[in-house]
Amino acid sequence: MNQKSSLLLIYTGGTIGMKQDPTDLTLKPFDFSQILEEVPELRKFAFKIDTWTFDPLIDSSDVEPSMWQALANLIKAKYDSYDGFIILHGTDTMSYSASALSFMLDGLTKPVIFTGSQLPIGVPRTDGKENLISSVEIASAKDSEGHALVPEVCICFGSKLMRGNRSIKVNAEVFDAFESPNYPPLAEAGINIRYRNEFIRKPLDWYQSISINTTLDTRVSILKLHPGITREAVQYFLCDPGTRAVIMETYGAGNAPSAPWFIDTVSEACRGGKVIVNVTQCLAGTVNMDIYATGKCLKTAGVVNGFDSTTESALAKLFFLLGKSDDNIWVKEMMERNLKGEISK
Ligand code: ASP
Repeated sequence: MNQKSSLLLIYTGGTIGMKQDPTDLTLKPFDFSQILEEVPELRKFAFKIDTWTFDPLIDSSDVEPSMWQALANLIKAKYDSYDGFIILHGTDTMSYSASALSFMLDGLTKPVIFTGSQLPIGVPRTDGKENLISSVEIASAKDSEGHALVPEVCICFGSKLMRGNRSIKVNAEVFDAFESPNYPPLAEAGINIRYRNEFIRKPLDWYQSISINTTLDTRVSILKLHPGITREAVQYFLCDPGTRAVIMETYGAGNAPSAPWFIDTVSEACRGGKVIVNVTQCLAGTVNMDIYATGKCLKTAGVVNGFDSTTESALAKLFFLLGKSDDNIWVKEMMERNLKGEISK
């Protein structure tokens, strides 16, 4: 571990820093300074840990893209002063935020690690301490040349370090709440932290400066297919003039109903310039629109292949790409490209 490491611990809210309100017994965020009091172990690290508290602190169900913009701006402003950044965040939307930051931060050479907990840090069986301490250790880890071991936007939770834009919250109760179903963990925490270098993205230039993209276009909706879905519902989502893109959560390898009204609606939306992205409802595996006739119809209609993207990542990527350009054809092309390790391609 490098003696000179310095980290910025950014607290946005979430269970990790919540306390029970004695009046209505609900969990509410409390003053961040108490977090460090709750984790005296952090003082044992030989490096500097500064803190930054968002105001107001929020339950992550209230996260809006404006918070991602604030986080990106903060990281850019503080980039040269720290070796790594840890973002304490509620678990509910952590995968969305980590995905968004992975696209918004360009030229990253330092770790940006999201973490949180299932139990507040003040309660005896909390998972918050372990998550926080592992995150601190990972955010400060460097190789023999002084480069960060994990210069990526990640989620550190339970015993795993995952690429942020590959992660999903899969469990509302157990401590191992997150999975990265389509990409191996970047590190595993046991007696030691075992880094899996072959899976970690490294910058081409360690001395590049960071740039941020904070223009996001949120005119995106998500349509989850299901047996019995009505023509009205599909038309409402796909043909709404207020949206530029729709993530369509399909069955299995990217399949959808073959009913003519359905295919006609998809074709009409694509002809009208809408970006429709095919993402599977399955937890793991990839979309392949060449296997079944029902998938092939979507491809022919002009649906974009989301490959093995999570829905969270596809949403963040669309916000980012639509924010960059008014040209939906370019957005379609970029959706099928691997930009930040978010799809296996
Ligand atoms: N509702 C909380 C949040 O996402 C849950 C958590 O932190 O685990 O902010």
